[in-house]
Amino acid sequence: MKVLIVNCGSSSLKYQVIDSDSEEVLAKGLCERIGIDGRLVYQKTGEDKEITDAPMPTHKEAIRMVLDALVNPKTGCISGLGEIEAVGHRLVHGGEKFAESCLLNEEVLKTVEECNDLAPLHNPANLIGVRACQELMKDVPMVGVFDTAFHQTMPKKAYIYGLPYEYYEKYALRKYGFHGTSHSFVSKKVAEVEGRDDLKIVVCHLGNGASICAVNAGKSVDTSMGLTPLEGLIMGTRSGDIDPSVMEFLAKKEGLDIPGVMNVLNKKSGVEGISGVSSDFRDLENAMEEGNERAILAVEAFSYRVAKYVGAYAAAMNGVDVIAFTAGIGENTVSVREKVLSTLTFLGLTLDVEANKKRGEDYMTITTPDSKVKAVVVATNEELAICRETVRLVK
Ligand code: AMP
Repeated sequence: MKVLIVNCGSSSLKYQVIDSDSEEVLAKGLCERIGIDGRLVYQKTGEDKEITDAPMPTHKEAIRMVLDALVNPKTGCISGLGEIEAVGHRLVHGGEKFAESCLLNEEVLKTVEECNDLAPLHNPANLIGVRACQELMKDVPMVGVFDTAFHQTMPKKAYIYGLPYEYYEKYALRKYGFHGTSHSFVSKKVAEVEGRDDLKIVVCHLGNGASICAVNAGKSVDTSMGLTPLEGLIMGTRSGDIDPSVMEFLAKKEGLDIPGVMNVLNKKSGVEGISGVSSDFRDLENAMEEGNERAILAVEAFSYRVAKYVGAYAAAMNGVDVIAFTAGIGENTVSVREKVLSTLTFLGLTLDVEANKKRGEDYMTITTPDSKVKAVVVATNEELAICRETVRLVK
């Protein structure tokens, strides 16, 4: 079955067409600057990237351009739209209403809309993408795969905030967690490769957005992101955990209102804020080599926070069997893995320094055979995970 995977942001749209039988990507790309001017990037597997600048006032025009590119007689990856048998949509926030992926019908979409307050930037854009696809691909089944769903197994003691309980009752104000599709994909892969479904796994999804998840016997029992993706680790440009009083302090000192403070915490903080160099770990590694002290501090602080969360989640599960690194930094930045794991030797973990230097494999072990806790690097693939979920529900 050929499946279109759609991931809509407020002004962008990423897409892939996957053949679910071979699990091969047939084509992929993105639309950028939707509502501003518009650019389509399209790449058929094995061919060069094509870039087309064209007006995209809304997501509907963007999706129409994607569909046109897919069926283009010269460069398309399918001969007609009828070949697309299902569409899988990444949806960010399902609140407490969705613990699983779901076939999207009118009733379900209304319920997703009710979660918009919880993710005001993401959910409305996701829904616009769904509606646009529905209009252009009538009768093709659509599936929503939620970033939050995997974490709905967390016990209440893990997701309740230390706030008046009435806010939880009135507004469903609590920790939700994100990157669930990736945490689920990676923890399943670990269970499959290690041949055990009772493992205590800590998954470190370290990308521009970064979060950690404690997975006990296949279920998320705690995770570092919260009501929104701002909580937890120090990220590319997000602060992660801070004393909430920082907000009042900054507002007074810098004359900022709430959106102003939120802008600082979401877009001007993290390793970029600390280093003053970049949010990108490749730039930070270069700056570190040149002896840039703030870049060194940023990477040290990032890695220290990761190690602390791994330790906390080992405690939360009363043990840990496998620590899994994934996403851009987790899969590629050797020095971060080394820094994190070198503070976890108290768990009986021994890093294999040479194995840790390798890159580019789907699954690799980076601890020695006698290490009591195993550390692995796993290539995440959220699109494939969405594709598998879509096929499971459509079939
Ligand atoms: P993601 O959000 O998963 O795409 O991850 C983005 C982060 O991963 C950025 O900080 C990149 O610097 C880092 N990253 C991606 N690829 C590499 C690479 N080949 N080497 C080092 N860091 C990388």
